[in-house]
Amino acid sequence: MTNDKTYDTDVLVIGSGPAGGSAALLLATYGVDTMLVNKYGWVANTPRAHITNQRTLEVLRDLGVEAEALAQGTPQDMMGDTVLCTSLAGEEIGRISTWGAGEAHLSEYSSASPCPMIDLPQTYMEPILVTNAAERGAKCRFDTEFVSLEQDADGVTATLRDRLRGDEYTVRAKYLIGADGARSVVAEQIGLPIAGRSGVGGSMNICFTADLSRYCEHRPSVLYWAMRPGAHMGGIGMGLIRMVRPWNEWLLTWGYDIEGEPPTLDEDEARRIVLDLLGDDSIDVQIDSTSLWTVNHSYATEYSRGISGGTDEDGIETGLAMCRAETAEGAARRRALIDAIELKNYEFNAHGVELNQRYASSATVPDSSAEEEWVRDRELFAKPTTRPGAKLPHAWLVDGDGLRRSTLDVVGRGQFSVVTGLSGGVWERAAAAAAEKLDIPIRSVRIDTPGLRDAYGRWARLREIAEDGVLLVRPDGYVAWRRNTSPNAEATATAELTAALTAVLDR
Ligand SMILES: Cc1cc2nc3c(=O)[nH]c(=O)nc-3n(C[C@H](O)[C@H](O)[C@H](O)COP(=O)(O)OP(=O)(O)OC[C@H]3O[C@@H](n4cnc5c(N)ncnc54)[C@H](O)[C@@H]3O)c2cc1C
Repeated sequence: MTNDKTYDTDVLVIGSGPAGGSAALLLATYGVDTMLVNKYGWVANTPRAHITNQRTLEVLRDLGVEAEALAQGTPQDMMGDTVLCTSLAGEEIGRISTWGAGEAHLSEYSSASPCPMIDLPQTYMEPILVTNAAERGAKCRFDTEFVSLEQDADGVTATLRDRLRGDEYTVRAKYLIGADGARSVVAEQIGLPIAGRSGVGGSMNICFTADLSRYCEHRPSVLYWAMRPGAHMGGIGMGLIRMVRPWNEWLLTWGYDIEGEPPTLDEDEARRIVLDLLGDDSIDVQIDSTSLWTVNHSYATEYSRGISGGTDEDGIETGLAMCRAETAEGAARRRALIDAIELKNYEFNAHGVELNQRYASSATVPDSSAEEEWVRDRELFAKPTTRPGAKLPHAWLVDGDGLRRSTLDVVGRGQFSVVTGLSGGVWERAAAAAAEKLDIPIRSVRIDTPGLRDAYGRWARLREIAEDGVLLVRPDGYVAWRRNTSPNAEATATAELTAALTAVLDR
């Protein structure tokens, strides 16, 4: 325990799930002193989250761990023949092309991002996040349970319990991120309002091992939905056989009546349910684990106490609760930290993991041009735009060695970037002057110079600014400000860019 002005760590992250693990990895990568705690001895032991969308892969790419994720995940072309059947061995009712599979979708997905979708079970993703966070300097403590916290004007004092020794001790931090899951103790203690209903349906997960290749290889999918009698009872509306590893590791989900007594789910009952959904008694099934859970339709409507911002009208399924008080370092430091954990501000095809990583931000300078028309469902279809607040559109460029590089590869990595074209040299000079004035690193990216060519001409169609215009891109790859053309005078360009950065940094 230290005095009020001395800190054991800058940021204390509670929970090493996808939200906590990625927050710790981002913070450690950007040089922020971080401590990560988890009440269990290691990371998740059940493969809950798995379908991992392109934006999550983009974040992992920016952090330099995409290759590890791709090596561990099941590739997109083995994910998407979603099957509806009476049982796995029974009648096939139909198939739906999902997750970018099928001719109509594949090109949409691959033109939206340099990254594919993959199936990366939580049991594989968490070790990547936590191991890399630790390698980059985050202090990771397992068997360490968050008990309580107190906030004051300078920071947060958290009480933690060492579950091996049994004693409690305090950690003093400037910020605390509660990434402790759906039943967040942090969210409860700081009084974050939770909207919606809990206990909407009863559900069970059964993890099992069985070689199901002959029923799956010819229609590769992550999800096989089985319409069995009783499937309407609780759960998720149908029986689900979910691939964990093709084609021998599985997770089955089945419902139960939440109004009655929770069922006894011993090994015999689990095997009976598995064989019923498989529809083939001759399959050799090994039951690995079972658990009961309830379906909740609830979300936190605010994410923080003691810092500004953090409200999201759409809400999130669980929570990334965050608390801290103002420190002497003021708003700029706060904004930098918030940006460090901010992964996205609107969703395309998002699941639990992506939503839990979200942190709403107003760190943009709004544009006066009319908002583009969304003719298609904006939750299902990406629409590239460089409007402030949007993610920088992906386009393949060609570098000096003739290699393809995404527009997303030339920004990010913890720095603001100024993106312009061949005739936008004034912005390079303005960026250097603004960097000096504000004492922050700013990267200049000049597209269509010999080292970075718009060889396919796609960037010219996507950028929505003139060749000498500029995009100010935040460290997380989102556009913060844009100007259609150059003002010519370097002093004006510097003043405008500096003003935009000052607003975005909340200085
Ligand atoms: C069956 C199922 C399938 C799913 N499929 C998908 C999917 O395909 N794609 C997807 O994106 N999402 C999916 N989800 C949702 C996904 O699992 C959650 O959104 C995700 O796990 C939430 O991540 P999190 O880091 O917020 O919380 P969690 O993963 O719950 O992690 C919470 C962490 O906090 C720790 N913790 C809790 N309390 C304390 C404490 N007091 N002190 C210290 N540590 C603590 C826990 O040990 C854990 O490390 C699925 C969920 C289920 C149940």
